Amino acid sequence: MNVFDSIAQVQEQTTKWVREGKTIGFVPTMGYLHEGHERLMEEARKENDKVILSIFVNPLQFGENEDLDQYPRDHDHDVSVAEKYGVDLVFLPTEDTMYPAPLTLNISVVRRADVLCGRSRPGHFEGVVTVLTKLFNICQPTRAYFGMKDAQQVAVVDGLIQDFNFPVQLVRVPTVREADGLAKSSRNVNLSHSEREEAPSIQAALSHATDLVRKGERNPEEIIQSVREFLDSRTRGKIDYIELLSYPELEPVHSIDQTVILAVAVYYEKARLIDNVVMGKDGVSELR
Ligand code: AMP
Repeated sequence: MNVFDSIAQVQEQTTKWVREGKTIGFVPTMGYLHEGHERLMEEARKENDKVILSIFVNPLQFGENEDLDQYPRDHDHDVSVAEKYGVDLVFLPTEDTMYPAPLTLNISVVRRADVLCGRSRPGHFEGVVTVLTKLFNICQPTRAYFGMKDAQQVAVVDGLIQDFNFPVQLVRVPTVREADGLAKSSRNVNLSHSEREEAPSIQAALSHATDLVRKGERNPEEIIQSVREFLDSRTRGKIDYIELLSYPELEPVHSIDQTVILAVAVYYEKARLIDNVVMGKDGVSELR
């Protein structure tokens, strides 16, 4: 396995692989790898001749008051995990490598981004699509793997690939969870003991919502209100949003008669957690 920090090294390798007709599976991450990332690597390993993992905490996608400095990092551990999962190349660039000079261009995300995390984190998805545009050109993937835990990111990346005709297939991977239902996240280590005990209520609230839909509830407002009460009674975390939208368009819906996403974000003291369920009108969650 190669660990490269320069763009030229990676491009030289990927260009060679492309010329040889090799398929390349690409897993972009911010590191501090956990089982969610491991599932992405496993899928990539199964479906491609070569697998690339990138580890880069992208400053462009963090807002001024966000947790860029507190974001956990452990490169030695990450490299050994990548080795274990049969990754061929780890791309571990520095900030200066990725952004050697102020950017000349700025990609605006004009749909799918003014709701959910895009509303709470202005500029976040612009940062995501900018770094992915660079990473796609550097890594030249056949397939790129993304977790449905970040379902809005999947919807925005789907738009990026389609709008700009990147020859990349987007692969969606279901959310990997702890035994108690909490979605695995690098940020979970920043929860206090009591917050960690309460945090599984986020996933329980999503299950509560799918139960309501299965029993015939079709009114988004009723479902959101019920989820809010459910969460308020089980966690002291501050609810950032509870939203129910069409998926992947992320438009408002007046009744549940199509595929929708119910997404939740909760602030704890040192971490903001997100989770979601994408479900059909029968309340059966998709991609689980
Ligand atoms: P991150 O390092 O948080 O930027 O995540 C890198 C990739 O891993 C993204 O595509 C995430 O959606 C995915 N990911 C993060 N957590 C999970 C999880 N619990 N289950 C599945 N995928 C995940």
